[in-house]
Amino acid sequence: MDDVIDLRIQIALEDDESSESSESSSGSSQETPETVQSGSQTRRAEPLVSYDTSLPALHSYLGNDLEELSGRTLLDDDSCQTIPILSLPGVMLIPGQTLPLQLYNPSTIAMMIHIIHNDHTFGLINSRFSGRLFNNAVDTIGTTVEIRSYREEENDYGVNNLIIKAEGRQRFEILETRTQSDGIIIGKVRILPELSIGEPGVGCKLNSLDKFSVPPPNFNPSKRSNGYQCNELLHRNSHKYNKYDFANYTWFPEFVYKMYDPIVLMNRIKGMIQNWNKTMSKDLMPCNPKEFSFWIAANLPLDDNQRMELLKINEVTGRLRHELKIIEECCVLTCKDCSNVIARREDIFSMSLQGPQGTYVNPNGYVHEAITVYKAKGLHLSGRPSTEQSWFPGYAWTIMECSQCHSHMGWRFTAVEKNLKPIRFWALCRSAIQNRISALTDADA
Ligand SMILES: [Zn+2]
Repeated sequence: MDDVIDLRIQIALEDDESSESSESSSGSSQETPETVQSGSQTRRAEPLVSYDTSLPALHSYLGNDLEELSGRTLLDDDSCQTIPILSLPGVMLIPGQTLPLQLYNPSTIAMMIHIIHNDHTFGLINSRFSGRLFNNAVDTIGTTVEIRSYREEENDYGVNNLIIKAEGRQRFEILETRTQSDGIIIGKVRILPELSIGEPGVGCKLNSLDKFSVPPPNFNPSKRSNGYQCNELLHRNSHKYNKYDFANYTWFPEFVYKMYDPIVLMNRIKGMIQNWNKTMSKDLMPCNPKEFSFWIAANLPLDDNQRMELLKINEVTGRLRHELKIIEECCVLTCKDCSNVIARREDIFSMSLQGPQGTYVNPNGYVHEAITVYKAKGLHLSGRPSTEQSWFPGYAWTIMECSQCHSHMGWRFTAVEKNLKPIRFWALCRSAIQNRISALTDADA
């Protein structure tokens, strides 16, 4: 078996020409090389990752000498702010997501340098609202972005390239915009609040019944004297604690309250995602329901409309319920233009500490959101592999196109360093793919 693994690594290292021609001509299913998992008990191939997953999150292709900015800005919920707006095609940032930028436009560079010397904050909006439509948009949601680090690259005429690493912070709604003479858009925005509907069932609980309740396992009677009846018998039974005991005294059964409990919803989504494959471990995901709801919004392969729906939701339970519905319905990833099936949701795996989907910038300054899959089909290669500014250090990238309509779908990454696993994987552009229900994919098995 070891020989087989070695041989496969060798093929991957020497591969590109032969596999390029065979894959581009057939356009058929490209099997993962990671089918060798502990002998014959493997039913479905699992991705094996021996890669340092902290590397992609560092964006080291931008260089490691960026100047860090200190201090964090949190704008008040519902407050009106006037901030410069950057619009990027195909990028809709979620709070918590990293945004790398390589800027060449002199006006944008001047705007960013001004921001760096002030509160580090600007607004980001998907540029499908740009141009003439931008001024007419009334229902426009974006995200504030805070610059974390930067580097100026100068030539004889001044700063000609500004590299920035920033992070999405808070959602906002555009109230009005004006465009300056230098083309910079200034927006008056309202910071959207994060509301909480509180614990489910609080309104129908009878406090007088608390004394009969079993206290939670970590309940410390010395710290709290009222509420639960703190006798020894109840403490001995604390493993029987059920937060939803109160449901017995209400019109609705327990499961109804659980449908609106952010912790229950979070754990349910985590359970579903963990079933996809072993790389989607719990350690990858935040424990706080609000942070988790944003993590899911950032890491699911959602199209712009689905993302916008999530960005509009002001409350964590509603957001999680919406995400659960999408996960239940999304079974395959297809080409947005021709519905050619590219991957299954179970093929989504994580090559980064930040999750399977990340935001990366190419040398021309174009920002891509890319989701990693360990199996893909219906694609063919375009051009030669390159290691220039590779988002995954140790891997070379090759452009991939849809085999049916030739739309740009993303990249194939192949290991150039020995012993890296997986030896190859694919990063698909969020803007090029669409999630669909399984009924459309009979050939997918
Ligand atoms: Zn296509």
